[in-house]
Amino acid sequence: VFAHVAQAPEDSILGVTVAYNKDPSPIKLNLGVGAYRTEEGKPVVLNVVRKAEQLLVNDRSRVKEYLPIVGLADFNKLSAKLIFGADSPAIQENRVTTVQCLSGTGSLRVGAEFLGRHYHERTIYIPQPTWGNHPKIFNLGGLSVKYYRYYDPATRGLHFQGLLEDLGSAPTGAIVLLHACAHNPTGVDPTLEQWAQIRQLMRSKGLLPFFDSAYQGFASGSLDADAQSVRMFVADGGECLVAQSYAKNMGLYGERVGALSIVCKNADVASRVESQLKLVIRPMFSNPPIHGASIVATILKDMNMYDEWTVELKAMADRIISMRHKLFEALRAKDTPGDWSHIIKQIGMFTFTGLNSEQVAFMTKEYHIYMTSDGRISMAGLSSKTVPHLADAIHAAVTR
Ligand code: PMP
Repeated sequence: VFAHVAQAPEDSILGVTVAYNKDPSPIKLNLGVGAYRTEEGKPVVLNVVRKAEQLLVNDRSRVKEYLPIVGLADFNKLSAKLIFGADSPAIQENRVTTVQCLSGTGSLRVGAEFLGRHYHERTIYIPQPTWGNHPKIFNLGGLSVKYYRYYDPATRGLHFQGLLEDLGSAPTGAIVLLHACAHNPTGVDPTLEQWAQIRQLMRSKGLLPFFDSAYQGFASGSLDADAQSVRMFVADGGECLVAQSYAKNMGLYGERVGALSIVCKNADVASRVESQLKLVIRPMFSNPPIHGASIVATILKDMNMYDEWTVELKAMADRIISMRHKLFEALRAKDTPGDWSHIIKQIGMFTFTGLNSEQVAFMTKEYHIYMTSDGRISMAGLSSKTVPHLADAIHAAVTR
């Protein structure tokens, strides 16, 4: 009965790892997926995460009962505090509802379904380009996807004029997806002044902000600095949605820990919104997993562990930034044609190199370097040892 089922294509990002795994070359390098690696090219579990896990294991009073539909209460409270700020008036006024979801992806999906059911405008504007999963998530949530200009290949920077024009001509009430920081795949973020202008335009047109916060702490190394865009929108008293992920900033990728917050006009609305979120979640995954959220809550509620986390997080962010400088210097030393300063200007885990799909294919074939065909490389997958190999490959690709 399934004989007619066609072979589906590999995911454009995860498919890179599939191809990498098949390559027997000893010099192969995977810069496709956005996962942090050490200087030795190894995945890491943060020390503070190990410590939290130990505490959880030793606590014999802990059981494996189901969590409530909305997840772990402590985790939700602490997650809201982390993104909106410890002194956020919106939290104090009880007009934020936060529900634990399956990492960033699941939080976006639950938010999309909620909007599809309860919001009057079904169009969501997403940046061009954006993380490849975004359009699929929102379509499945019942929204229709349109793009706003975001990246300008000519300057390898933000297409700010295009962004303002496209959001300016969006229908009143349309939803707008915003990357809170460290835009994926471009590594290009608006400045704070530009964020202020975006906020003003969106509020004047009644556009609804939906923030995707997958890299808090990873862009600058500071959790507060990376939340400024979100906090600016919350401070004006308006509504917004925020999807949070702990995949990158706590290294909890496979634990699937995240949260969806909806900031409402008042406490009464927030409580009704939460009741409807439960109706979205119950038939989707019933209730979220307990382990990852318990790790996060353990760390966030203990001042010492929280501090330890921020130190480890900053070290990851700093290593990525140092890789940017190393790669930039290596290309400069080789006199590789072109202006490569975007490598050090871009923010977060990725560099949008500007290499085209043919150059990428060449680098994969000849140098065994794997990345997405749009030329995005994960800086977190690089090390001092592999930078020269990458610089050689880039040099060969652009001088071919
Ligand atoms: N949003 C963006 C922009 C991302 O880059 C990612 C991870 N690559 C996610 C959301 C969600 O990731 P996860 O579901 O693993 O939290």
